[in-house]
Amino acid sequence: MAQTEGDDPTIAVRTGIAVGDVFAGRYEIQKLLGRGGMGSVFRVHDREVAEVIALKLLDATMATPEAIERFRREVRLARRVTHRNAARTYDLGEHQTWRFLTMEYVDGESLRTHIARARPSGARAVEFAIQIARGLAAAHEAGVVHRDLKPANVLVERSGRIVITDFGIARALQGSDATLQTGGLLGTPAYMAPEQISGARVEAPADLYALGLILYEMLTGRLPFSGGSPMAVALARLHQPLPELASDPNIPPRLAELLQRCLAREVEQRLHSAAELAELLGAISAELGADSGTLSMPTASFTKGTRSPSGPGVAATPTPSSARALAVLPFRYRGPESESYVAETLSDELIDVLSTMRGLRVSGSGATARFADAGDRDPRTIGAELGVDVIVDGTVQLAGKRVRISARLLDVGSGFQLWSERYDGALEDVFELQDKMGRRIAEALRLKLEDIAHRGEAPLEAIESYLRARQLARTWDWKGPHGAAALYERCLALAPEFKPALAGHAIACLRAWFLPSWNPDEPDWEARACEAVQTALAGAPELAETHLAAAIHSVQHGEYKPAAESLRQALRIAPTYAAAHEYLGRLQIEAGRPEQGVAHLELAVELDPGLVYALPDIARHHALRDDIDSYDRQIARFVEATGRDTDLPTTILEIRVAAWYGAKDRIARVRERITDNLPETDSLVSFAKTMTAAHASIDELRAIFQKVFDAASNPRFAALLRQLGAEAAMFHGHEDLAMDYIQEASDGVLLDLDWLEYCPLLGPLRERAQFEAARALVRGRAEAVWAAPRVDKAR
Ligand code: ADP
Ligand code: MG
Repeated sequence: MAQTEGDDPTIAVRTGIAVGDVFAGRYEIQKLLGRGGMGSVFRVHDREVAEVIALKLLDATMATPEAIERFRREVRLARRVTHRNAARTYDLGEHQTWRFLTMEYVDGESLRTHIARARPSGARAVEFAIQIARGLAAAHEAGVVHRDLKPANVLVERSGRIVITDFGIARALQGSDATLQTGGLLGTPAYMAPEQISGARVEAPADLYALGLILYEMLTGRLPFSGGSPMAVALARLHQPLPELASDPNIPPRLAELLQRCLAREVEQRLHSAAELAELLGAISAELGADSGTLSMPTASFTKGTRSPSGPGVAATPTPSSARALAVLPFRYRGPESESYVAETLSDELIDVLSTMRGLRVSGSGATARFADAGDRDPRTIGAELGVDVIVDGTVQLAGKRVRISARLLDVGSGFQLWSERYDGALEDVFELQDKMGRRIAEALRLKLEDIAHRGEAPLEAIESYLRARQLARTWDWKGPHGAAALYERCLALAPEFKPALAGHAIACLRAWFLPSWNPDEPDWEARACEAVQTALAGAPELAETHLAAAIHSVQHGEYKPAAESLRQALRIAPTYAAAHEYLGRLQIEAGRPEQGVAHLELAVELDPGLVYALPDIARHHALRDDIDSYDRQIARFVEATGRDTDLPTTILEIRVAAWYGAKDRIARVRERITDNLPETDSLVSFAKTMTAAHASIDELRAIFQKVFDAASNPRFAALLRQLGAEAAMFHGHEDLAMDYIQEASDGVLLDLDWLEYCPLLGPLRERAQFEAARALVRGRAEAVWAAPRVDKAR
């Protein structure tokens, strides 16, 4: 079958997979990136983790059982390579008859295409080679030899970052070390080391040889050996001497010597350590100076962030030219020598994550590596040398099973420390920890940088109000003369242009509008919120916070699709924005994408452990699936994080879940907490009392809930209260009343498909045609939220 397919020139027919398809129920095919020796590579959106990644679909001929087993082994190995200059390998998967490999997506082009389009300057070539050497060093350290290093397997990201792909794949396909077989030789002999061609043992030095060839090619535009066929070229490498390098005008003299050592025919005479090569190249690079020209790249076809959950057909927002420039110095390390890579990969990880943020220009690690061992890291000197405004410096300390990371932000102009924070963690899974810490530090830094960048002329008092407002917002203290909304207002009265306050104010007003109100003198939060959102969109459209505000605004009006689009926009600007992940997670859980929703909520707590209200939402999801153990665990996590078991929204949830499963003992336990600890006036409290009462007549319920509904301030909260009403009615055996409430909610803006489909209390209603109609209405509403955005056909 592969034979007949192979003759077909169109890839879509060859693989049967087209743009727009969802492959394996999970990967939305966005684009064909290329075809290579083993199959086709696609850019896909992974729905499960909401990330854009690359998916390599192996041709059927590659999928013999032995080949698969070798692949599995290699993938397992390759996954140990975690370095910013090496593409992350995720998984080997199978779907129907397909085998596929998922990996980090790199937005750019292959070095092969890159060189063909425009030969890099000597300085740039060395810069690239340094990055390749670093990626190789990390791989070799992890025990992985590439074996098929060639320009097609080196990707040049738009940012200038170099990423090596296809680690270990060559061996996986061959089963043993590469040998020169007739016609069956895998890879490109043009970049193979002599020992590889002759069938001898292939180790790390083979990769250094290939890198030597690549560097030679970048400098001179050709390869050192030639011949009529790839095989003749390979053989020339075995038998002919290397051309004279020192006299080549394209090769700087000090490089000639180093290249000679990379291209030595005998393994014993060759340079063995990629790390050493990176260092030697670094010294030469310092002499050559940096290539200050911009990287020549084809026009962007896609957003830059590889981690941003962008959907298809979304235009990229260019980085504003006013972007702030930042450099991350290699983290200092204290601990056993064997683990010193932790510090290096952590600073690399941070560079990666920060690079995905709009409005921030981040120096690559190539630029900062030379400060690794500098005893005195004076931010002013380093900043001037690198041409950046701020510097991130940090320390990684390993002691026993613990790791401690301290990060600091330093202002280049003044030399002052602007921010610092310390993170502790267990060393159990160091890779995971690095990812986590990298993202957390990046998020904390983003907030800090935003404040600093927009502070401008704002008087100190304004900044103080702003910082206090932000503090209050964390405890959901929105209203009143001393609430977050009022403090943001005070800040804006003094500094009307302070952008973070514009966005913060909008969010505070929206939250205040969401909460029920019993006070007739309260301001018109709806009007204030609408105005504040408009002001923020006009005055601070570049802030992710502004787009979160727009999303909340839409949701509270029951306009969910625009909300999803605003959230996407927020995460495009700031892929680590925890509150946006949290909000998106909630929306997904309700609207038919619960697994993704839980993943986003988990990510939100990871990025910002203060977002504790994500936990009860995760808990609720488990409870709806009748997984009470997981539910209990999440509630315990919440109580541990907050120290409170009397939090009202969580208590309400606990009552509901107990009622869902008719757990009388649980209800009794929670009831005690209510009488002891909670205020009497709140609508949620009257709900709780109703639920815990032994009996309630239909008239009693009607009277109570009418009062509760009257206090609802916005359509979204009104729908939520009707859900509670329906549960209370079912709990006390009044099915018709419950149906009325569900009808009202679905006629309104109810989105909670998950609840309609899984809440155990609603079981008896699910037979009714009226319920089915309501559910169909809500399902349609939920599906519409995620329908693909309109794609501009002209692009
Ligand atoms: P080869 O390496 O033999 O050219 P591959 O199948 O590995 O073939 O890749 C085909 C092309 O797909 C590459 O040349 C590159 O342009 C693109 N590509 C491969 N992996 C990625 C990736 N992780 N991210 C972006 N593009 C990729
Ligand atoms: Mg490849």
